[in-house]
Amino acid sequence: MAKKVQWIVVTDLDASLLDESYSYEAALEALGALDAKEIPVVWNSSKTLDEMIEMAKLWQWKRKPILVGENGATLAFPCDADDTDTEGAWGNHICSSEVKGGYLCLCDLEVRAGILRTIKQIKKQNNFAFRGFSDFTDEELSQLTGLEDDAVRCAKARFATEPILWEGSDADYAAFVQLIKGYGFKTLRGGQFTHIMHINYDKSIGMASVVSVFAKRYPNQTWKTIALGDSPNDAVMLEQADFAVVIPNQAKGTITLRRKDYFLANDYASKGWNYSVLNFLNLTKLFI
Ligand SMILES: [Mg+2]
Repeated sequence: MAKKVQWIVVTDLDASLLDESYSYEAALEALGALDAKEIPVVWNSSKTLDEMIEMAKLWQWKRKPILVGENGATLAFPCDADDTDTEGAWGNHICSSEVKGGYLCLCDLEVRAGILRTIKQIKKQNNFAFRGFSDFTDEELSQLTGLEDDAVRCAKARFATEPILWEGSDADYAAFVQLIKGYGFKTLRGGQFTHIMHINYDKSIGMASVVSVFAKRYPNQTWKTIALGDSPNDAVMLEQADFAVVIPNQAKGTITLRRKDYFLANDYASKGWNYSVLNFLNLTKLFI
């Protein structure tokens, strides 16, 4: 007998599910429909797990979102899920788990330690000018980012990435990127900060980890993904999802994918998200 197909929604947060005021109010109809159909929602973001756990406290539906943090490098499952056995989700990586805010959080604690060791050594050897989250006091970070005390604590609770502020020349930056590549690390340019992370992680890896946990937990079902995102760092996830939705970005423009079969949302952020998910549910006859 053919396995029953079950969908998982995997979404970026900023400028995708969330609008510019960090609200998903415009997506309430679609989120309610997903909850009614018991379709899991995964937040896949460059935010830390602590930042997303705080946001998830306000989630109004019974099924809490599953969290993928730091661009695919950390993972958290709601503890009220019927089974939190996540063995094998991280392949050969050393995995550490901790229960925090009602979530079982999984990460490889060695990753960030390795990044910090390497970039500090490279900085010293080459006299590069940059500072990272690990160098800033809470007050400095609060001034730089405009975040309040609790939000600074959550932003600093990192396991797998180090955001840095580059203060040197463009030529030095290019040399730095080449040097860290030799150690297995890569850079991801965000708005204010450049994130240093392990080359093995990206948002598609995070998505695949969640799917492998579901496939193991529910072996009689075939799990398929619909992914939604607006930025270049979402592209890998969108290319590999079973159904991809690009959300246009008002400030930065609209990304294009290599695949041709993706859906382009008709509006920005949470409004476009709402429309696309409802449209997807209609298309797949999953809508009630
Ligand atoms: Mg985004």
